[in-house]
Amino acid sequence: MIDSHCHLADAAFADDVGDVVRRARGAGVSGGLCILAYGDAAEATRADRVRDLWPGLRFAIGVHPHQAHEFAGREAEVADAVRAALSGTPGVCAIGEVGLDYHYDFSPRDVQRSVFRAQIGLARETGLPVVVHTREADADTIGIIRDEGAGKVSGVFHCFSGTEDLANDALELGFLLSFSGMVTFPRAESIRAIAADTPADRLLVETDCPYLAPVPMRGARNEPAWVVRTAERLAELRHVAFDAFDTSVTGNFQRTFGAPPPASPLDPRA
Ligand SMILES: [Zn+2]
Repeated sequence: MIDSHCHLADAAFADDVGDVVRRARGAGVSGGLCILAYGDAAEATRADRVRDLWPGLRFAIGVHPHQAHEFAGREAEVADAVRAALSGTPGVCAIGEVGLDYHYDFSPRDVQRSVFRAQIGLARETGLPVVVHTREADADTIGIIRDEGAGKVSGVFHCFSGTEDLANDALELGFLLSFSGMVTFPRAESIRAIAADTPADRLLVETDCPYLAPVPMRGARNEPAWVVRTAERLAELRHVAFDAFDTSVTGNFQRTFGAPPPASPLDPRA
């Protein structure tokens, strides 16, 4: 199993990340994608430790819509700034998370759009996949990907919780949909319906930890080991055996983000 979206270098894991990684590997989670925030030096330092602890983990970095305001008035600098962050991040394989968030509106919408557009352009230029965060901004998110990268940029809509129309547009653009612990929440019928219908080769599963712990751990700090619970629920929704589901999502992850570096035979943690 793979956790396709975790924030393992977040301060929430600073005290016990070794235990968290041990539990993940013990639960059969062989790897994942660790999302880093652009320009966060403390998180970058914690990421070095996470990388040592878990060689199967890959990384993504980008300017989140919540922090897009840092580039207000200098949107033209985004691409160069993120390009430098990518080259300074070992194990990086994606740009993200990037996108639009009109629910919280922590950054002005026009700035969010410019910053997202610049990073889709960078994805087209570098060939890297993107991890998309979108909330209450369906039309603009799809419009920008279509304008800047249709047919040339792909990646994943993470923590999918949108409408069926958004799912269809994302799939038509060649993106995958990643589902979080939200699929275990009692009132998430519409998300479960979309997860049940997503083509098998376009589906990923994630924790988005430390957020969104699945039922029955809902409300607790989430961690990669618990991706298994969400995967079990998804397999059940889709009427497939867990092992077949596991093989399928692991293959999808590797096709999208590349295979992890092979574990060293001398690595006692392998
Ligand atoms: Zn996230």
